[in-house]
Amino acid sequence: MRLHNTFGGTKDVFEPLEPGLVRMYTCGPTVWNFAHVGNLRAFLFYDLIRRHLRVAGFRVTHVMNLTDIDDRILDQAMHAGTTIEEYIEPYARAFFEDMATLRAQPAEHYPRATEHIPEMVDMISTLIKNENAYIADGDVYFRIASFPAYGALSHLDRAGLKAGARVATDKYEKESVSDFALWKKSQPEDEEIGASWEAPFGRGRPGWHIECSAMSKRYLGETLDIHAGGVDLLFPHHENEIAQSEAANQKPFVRVWLHSEHLFDATGEKMSKSAGGFTTLRDLIGAGHDPLAIRFFLIANAHYRSRLRLSDDALHAAAEQVRRLREFNERVIRTAPAVSDDAGLAQRTAEVRIAYREALDDDLNLPQGVGLVFDHIREANAALDAGRVGPSNKASLLELIDDLDAHLDVIRVEEPGLAEEVERLIAEREEARRARDFDRADRIRDDLRSRGIALEDSRDGVRWRRISPGPVIEAGRS
Ligand SMILES: [Zn+2]
Repeated sequence: MRLHNTFGGTKDVFEPLEPGLVRMYTCGPTVWNFAHVGNLRAFLFYDLIRRHLRVAGFRVTHVMNLTDIDDRILDQAMHAGTTIEEYIEPYARAFFEDMATLRAQPAEHYPRATEHIPEMVDMISTLIKNENAYIADGDVYFRIASFPAYGALSHLDRAGLKAGARVATDKYEKESVSDFALWKKSQPEDEEIGASWEAPFGRGRPGWHIECSAMSKRYLGETLDIHAGGVDLLFPHHENEIAQSEAANQKPFVRVWLHSEHLFDATGEKMSKSAGGFTTLRDLIGAGHDPLAIRFFLIANAHYRSRLRLSDDALHAAAEQVRRLREFNERVIRTAPAVSDDAGLAQRTAEVRIAYREALDDDLNLPQGVGLVFDHIREANAALDAGRVGPSNKASLLELIDDLDAHLDVIRVEEPGLAEEVERLIAEREEARRARDFDRADRIRDDLRSRGIALEDSRDGVRWRRISPGPVIEAGRS
């Protein structure tokens, strides 16, 4: 498989350092609020990488951090009159709920910054000893001038950076304005909210960047195979991570950097918390959108390195695509195979399976893979209509759906409890019909129809299938 490495900007064949095992670090949420849909796009991108690495036969150790200390968390906890731990807990829980709702596979480790202070203190001590960091008025800063490779990832112009340093004379006692904080001196109020730790260079709390360097080292070692994040983290966060890790460890930090593009809202604004207007998963579900459609939209509507625009129309279109995939799957499962196979269909299904895999191997091009499958579904449906689908045709169509669902994970999932509820309502409707209460029987059928479930009378009793949810048009007698 080939991946587009932000470092260097080329698509290269991916091989992990240790054959068969991929060490992957991904920047997780700052749990000061609910994650917005732009964050979720990045988190589901991590899930896509992880899933495809496993499809490609790798074992994966995936680490995703929770930032549970930063300036915003401190501010909010202070205002709420709680400790930082009490303040973040509901948002940490909401993050895991969102991930489960969107069917992201769990990472192997979710380290929290506040639980890894000793590792950060160690790394900062090393940086001070190596003269890559200095203490200024109780704070500790990374000395960018000591790390010549600074800016290589984001193609930053170092000359411009220095010029900027002369212009901005701010309140910090820094040698250069671009030097960034590794450790911030304790303020009196930090103690009360549990945001202050002992360190050889003075009591305080860590800066944001050092946590990823320290925690990735703790769980994955000094050199990572893959480090991923949203493109908004490229500078300065990832640039700073490289500087800290390589200066402290004297080893290459990351072999492949992957960055997912921004999500824009319907008005064309980049979704971000600092801009104020942001949409959460809860907002979308509250507005009636299906989590499976949201998942499909975020991973399959655009390649991860392309910008994506969130809109009701796009989510409705995604829901329709999910419905078509699920309906096709159910149709293939239900089909009693013809006596013999269609050789042409067999060959094209085999070709589509190969092309699908190639699309994913080519820098995770899921949208292209999904497009290939939809084209093939049209042909397969025609074969199903004509009764030309034989036993091995059926088996290979189901394998194609397996291939697709290994990444999408929206086709074979059942909403928990749905089947039981539908069966119960079907029984109620039968009861009503026996009692000649046809109004009630019709009401049950129409309710189900508005939820996207159609009932069909068959010799074996009443069966149900998924359809486009929508208003009931005809109102015939049951
Ligand atoms: Zn990070």
